[in-house]
Amino acid sequence: MEIKIEPFGLPSLSAERPLVIAGPCSAESEEQVMEAARGIAARGIKIFRAGIWKPRTKPGGFEGVGEIGLGWLKRVKRETGMYVSTEVATRDHVFESLKAGVDMLWIGARTSANPFAVQEIADALKGVDIPILIKNPVNPDLELWVGAIERIYMAGLHRIGVIHRGFSSYDKKIYRNQPLWHIPIELRRRMPSLPIICDPSHIGGKRELIQPLSQQAMDLNFNGLMIESHCNPDVAWSDKEQQVTPEALFDIISRLVIRNEHQTTESLEELRRQLDTIDEQLFELLAKRMRISREIGIYKKEHNMPVLQTIRYDEILKKCSAMGEAMDLSVDFVKEMIKEIHEESVRQQILIMR
Ligand code: PEP
Ligand code: MN
Repeated sequence: MEIKIEPFGLPSLSAERPLVIAGPCSAESEEQVMEAARGIAARGIKIFRAGIWKPRTKPGGFEGVGEIGLGWLKRVKRETGMYVSTEVATRDHVFESLKAGVDMLWIGARTSANPFAVQEIADALKGVDIPILIKNPVNPDLELWVGAIERIYMAGLHRIGVIHRGFSSYDKKIYRNQPLWHIPIELRRRMPSLPIICDPSHIGGKRELIQPLSQQAMDLNFNGLMIESHCNPDVAWSDKEQQVTPEALFDIISRLVIRNEHQTTESLEELRRQLDTIDEQLFELLAKRMRISREIGIYKKEHNMPVLQTIRYDEILKKCSAMGEAMDLSVDFVKEMIKEIHEESVRQQILIMR
């Protein structure tokens, strides 16, 4: 399906990268919303976010203040001049948000994973011209993401953007949600005019990861950032570990290095960043390999098997040397690396045997 995306069309936005959307994970009270909004507006941010209806993993958590919060967003608009945005997950959320004059909507990651829910939102938006952002589905399924974009587009909305917020995984090591950058990159290849906004708050899940993830998103030429910001993050009613004060938000944005998109990758900086990303991936893979290796260790222990099976080691060595050679890696290097990795695996399994 051919998709022709139009600009968001919100007049006071600058065309410069990054387009920043900031605000608390959830609207908690009128005072909390206004305090955050004033702090954020004072730092030059033009689009405010706040969740009014919150999708929670388990019942009993804070599920959002609901409709009353829309009045607070109206006040943010009136008193700070920022545009306001919120998450919609049902037809009623759409109607209430439109009635309250919300400027931009977004579809959350749990919702975009559900075609029935996306279709319900698309139907409710038929004939309405409002900018809308579609978060990636929680599961790493590009087609599902594209499907959600198409459903909204077919309802007649052409001012569309997407939000990359990472993908959930059972293995939560570094990130709350795995970035899997290749997925938004492939989306960009398929729909080059679609603005991509990165949500480093939900990817990282921790304050200290927001800056490096934001830089990475800028280096990948993403258009904008959605960052959760709260005046007192430690007492936030949702996602407190990943929210930053407006002051910290300003610091994160000011430290970003925005590279010219026409610059080639010949710049050393750029290449080094690529290496950093690859190193990170290498370590994640190594850690995963060790975890699996420990699982094998447990199996061997339960079945009274010895840790070392030389036939298996020979097989790995042979297979990896051939693979390395085919990929232009030196045979000695590959052998040395496999030896080190294998030794560490054995050491880990021996620890389990004790
Ligand atoms: C949010 O933006 O607060 C939110 C609930 O995000 P996600 O849908 O990405 O989990
Ligand atoms: Mn949140």
